[in-house]
Amino acid sequence: MAIKCSIPVIDLEDFPAQSSKLVQAGEEWGCFRLVNHHNILSVTLMSDMKSVVQSLQDFPPEIKCRNTGIIHGSWETINKYTKAVHELLVEISGKLADALGISGFTIEGWPCLFRINQFNFAKETIGSSGFKIHTDSGFLAIVQDDEGVSGLEVMDKSGAFIPIDPWPGALVVNLGDVAKAWSNGRLRTVKHRVQCKEGSSRYSIAAFLGPSNQIVEAPPELVDDAHPRLYAPFTFEDYRNLRFSTKLNDGEALNLLLIDP
Ligand code: MG
Repeated sequence: MAIKCSIPVIDLEDFPAQSSKLVQAGEEWGCFRLVNHHNILSVTLMSDMKSVVQSLQDFPPEIKCRNTGIIHGSWETINKYTKAVHELLVEISGKLADALGISGFTIEGWPCLFRINQFNFAKETIGSSGFKIHTDSGFLAIVQDDEGVSGLEVMDKSGAFIPIDPWPGALVVNLGDVAKAWSNGRLRTVKHRVQCKEGSSRYSIAAFLGPSNQIVEAPPELVDDAHPRLYAPFTFEDYRNLRFSTKLNDGEALNLLLIDP
């Protein structure tokens, strides 16, 4: 089946051949599809995790609030999935740093946070937003998007929204504000949203990688006379607070950290 796709596709098994394509995807889009990652995160594990997520979300609120002893037999899947996604985040980050010629880059100690998104879209809400326009604040996010219900859209450089149609088995990788600051403005933080396009429940699982209290600053390889340092060093926590207090959730809070605005 031909898949309509306008964002770059990165084949994890084709490195270093895809290094320049990876950098280009980061510069031009700030996002890409990831394929051939199944020796780390298999299709079976993706589908098992989706089932776990659905069964958890389907519990009535009073049961969910108890938050104990309700996930019979699911922990194994959650643990396996968490480990696999973290491994993928490490792998992609390393490949990105290598492709940019950065030595000594490490994400050791960077926490990985998960978020489950469920939208109960209905026919009456078609055209409305599930998630409004935003960027992700961290370094990288891996999204296992709903394999059957469309809605995810990313903004291209012209400001147009491009639909990311379902592609079973593939993942979407988004670069966030930290990636833009760390790369001295070279990589793009992608604005995206989720739109209601059909009256159906929609699930996605996102994993976010970002530093905790480590300082974010561009490495020396990305700073020279032609590319002076753009952003004052910051901690992720301070940046998150800045985003929160200014309500600038679309990456614009980074402008407040420009050394030479
Ligand atoms: Mg997001």
